Amino acid sequence: MAKKEQTPKIYLLDVTNRDGVQTAKLGLSKLEKTMINIYLNEMGIFQSEFGFPTTRHEARYLEANLELVKMGVLKPIRLEGWIRAIVEDVKTAFKFVPNIKHLNLSISTSEQMLKGKFRGKKTGDDIIKEMTNAVDAAKAMGAESIGVNAEDGSRTELGFLVKFGLAAKEHGAARLRYCDTLGYDNPFTIYETMKALAENVGIALEVHCHGDLGMAVANSLAGAKGTVDGGQDAYINTTVNGIGERAGNADLVATVLAMNKSKGFAKNYQLGNPIKLAVAAKIAEFASYAFDVDIPLNQPGVGANAFAHASGIHADGVLKDPENYELYSYKDLGRGKPKFVETGREIISGQYSGIAGFRHLMGKMNVSFGTREEAGDILELVRYANVQSHKPLVEDELLFIAKYPLIAQKLLTLTPLVLETM
Ligand SMILES: [Zn+2]
Repeated sequence: MAKKEQTPKIYLLDVTNRDGVQTAKLGLSKLEKTMINIYLNEMGIFQSEFGFPTTRHEARYLEANLELVKMGVLKPIRLEGWIRAIVEDVKTAFKFVPNIKHLNLSISTSEQMLKGKFRGKKTGDDIIKEMTNAVDAAKAMGAESIGVNAEDGSRTELGFLVKFGLAAKEHGAARLRYCDTLGYDNPFTIYETMKALAENVGIALEVHCHGDLGMAVANSLAGAKGTVDGGQDAYINTTVNGIGERAGNADLVATVLAMNKSKGFAKNYQLGNPIKLAVAAKIAEFASYAFDVDIPLNQPGVGANAFAHASGIHADGVLKDPENYELYSYKDLGRGKPKFVETGREIISGQYSGIAGFRHLMGKMNVSFGTREEAGDILELVRYANVQSHKPLVEDELLFIAKYPLIAQKLLTLTPLVLETM
């Protein structure tokens, strides 16, 4: 298979708003999901898998975020929705979210899933047929880019993966996602598999790794390396703070650090677009707050101990020259700025907040309102946002609502379907 003319590159595709939010016991409000998209965009992430276009309660949020794309607020990031690779899902996606432009279509490919999940009712060829029908439908309905996901790819026989990938490519898919759904791969196996896929399918590959064996970031790097060595662009799937199903996904910040700072990697493998690592601390802290999950003390780059030194030899060494005991500086990650913590009287936003407290709160951020009515309208939206998130909104959320009240209104509108049986 002919290699691409240009040197292939590595892109980041964050799936916090899909894999992250489908994590057991966790979730995000629609405003919080929107903030994640905004921070990912600010950071320079190529694409955000921003949600589920076949789920009714996501539809308004997805459409509102696509409006933010049109307004230039979410630019240049690409927003892509995740659906099953079946025609029915494609139709529903375009019905609920008519403006959707980018989709990933997912279907299980392994023997285990054919037997255990589809109970022997489907053959490998059936799977390929369903997938290509779905790709055709998505193209016909206006999808500009389509990724096809081989779920449980790491337990799928390579020959079948190649056949699956070739069929996806033939029908116009732009990328094939190799999913190590169970975190079963190791850096050596995933390198070989993805290199072979790149060479034999000749399509850009996504690498989607889970941390069940503690190797999500390492496997992502190895998979991307295999893809580039095989002559194709690689798209690493990440989540903020590694939050994802079970043991989680490849952590966004750790992946960026590993690409940029690990031995020799950045010299030979290039990122497709520059990443602003300075947004790292902000996005990690926001996700931690929004998910209500603490950042582990020893989290790479953003954990409380990532730049803490206590032992005599290390402290002495790092004071003489930080590079003695630090691979990178805290400043690179946007850390080191003093944090404002209120220790006296606090006025915070809540579901039952009143106008005086709200104007005071916004005034502290230098936001003033022309009229009492205007302030009242924004306060109303803030109250609704509180109903969804159950916690005081952060400054960026309040500023977002004040700046884009009509978008906020859409994000906060949840209308359950009418029950047929009532
Ligand atoms: Zn996953």
